[in-house]
Amino acid sequence: MAEVSIRKMRKTFGKVVAVEGVDLEVARGELIVLLGPSGCGKSTTLRMVAGLETISAGELRIGGRDVTRLEPKDRDIAMVFQNYALYPHKTIRGNMAFGLKMRGMEPGEIDRRVSDAAEMLDITHLLERKPGQLSGGQMQRVALGRALVRDPAVFLLDEPLSNLDAKLRARMREEIALLQRRIGKAMLYVTHDQTEAMTLADRIVIMRDGRVQQIGSPLEVYDRPANAFVAGFIGSPEMNLAPAEIAGGRLVLGEGVSLPAPEGARPGPVTAGIRPEALAPVPAEEGAPLLVNGIEQLGSQTLFIGDLGGHRVRVMTGRRDDIRIDDRIAVAAPQAAIHLFDRDSGERLA
Ligand code: ATP
Repeated sequence: MAEVSIRKMRKTFGKVVAVEGVDLEVARGELIVLLGPSGCGKSTTLRMVAGLETISAGELRIGGRDVTRLEPKDRDIAMVFQNYALYPHKTIRGNMAFGLKMRGMEPGEIDRRVSDAAEMLDITHLLERKPGQLSGGQMQRVALGRALVRDPAVFLLDEPLSNLDAKLRARMREEIALLQRRIGKAMLYVTHDQTEAMTLADRIVIMRDGRVQQIGSPLEVYDRPANAFVAGFIGSPEMNLAPAEIAGGRLVLGEGVSLPAPEGARPGPVTAGIRPEALAPVPAEEGAPLLVNGIEQLGSQTLFIGDLGGHRVRVMTGRRDDIRIDDRIAVAAPQAAIHLFDRDSGERLA
């Protein structure tokens, strides 16, 4: 049975439809990441699950119970915010214990829970300090600890790492993944950072304009994006997307510029998608001509930016230092690595 079940969830703010028709089930032990550009409705979705926004239409169940209209405190959830939301005048111990005290939990049990969570997060030595005496990373652990002591069925995290520097973010990301595996609860995690999503998620929910575009494992959404939006959003550097024609078994990208089309592709106009890492330099007669107009050396890899049939295209290869700007090279991609989308709707074609 799903720990969290979201059915046809909708949110309107006056005339603005912020979230429309979201359906999602989260299993116990599963980490789901809500991902999308600014304004796509991911935070609003999370806040409706938390009970911080009312649900305009649809249904929310947690642990099988209909909680659609219940107060946040009655939903068996705990939320971790981007800004940590700690009480500045209380000690870390006081901050972690506060919610439990308010529920009238017995002091011995509170102590036990705070000690356990502090140990799990390696913050025992910080318990008597105030939030002002902690680094950003330490405050983030405390914010997690405060959620952990409540032992909720569902953890909700809203961009929890966005105030940390890149290195610390990568480390906390690993720790959250480990923690999640240890505690085995349902987790809903909002971010606009696709690396965070790819590395943390069991499944990613990609949203745009309030609607779910695709739900799948990181590799599913990477390998088979449901539409051109997802294709362009997932993957770095971005997938190359260009209008093209399927004709005579070829993917025609421009005048005299074509590649073998994917097998079974129907003739006609398409939007073609090829990941930079799927394109590679090949001998002249085996590929389509690319005029190189930018080169980025990344150490172990080289990124070429060039013109392919009038389209700006990125090619990511293993390190190459024999190709120069203004060189004409040939590039090719395996047929199976070419994605085709409907030119009008953007939906994936087969
Ligand atoms: P971000 O990454 O920028 O936080 P988001 O994907 O989390 O974006 P939401 O904050 O969920 O997006 O917002 C979704 C839409 O709802 C946006 O168009 C936003 O302007 C609108 N919205 C959010 N909160 C309110 C509100 N209280 N009143 C009116 N409109 C709102």
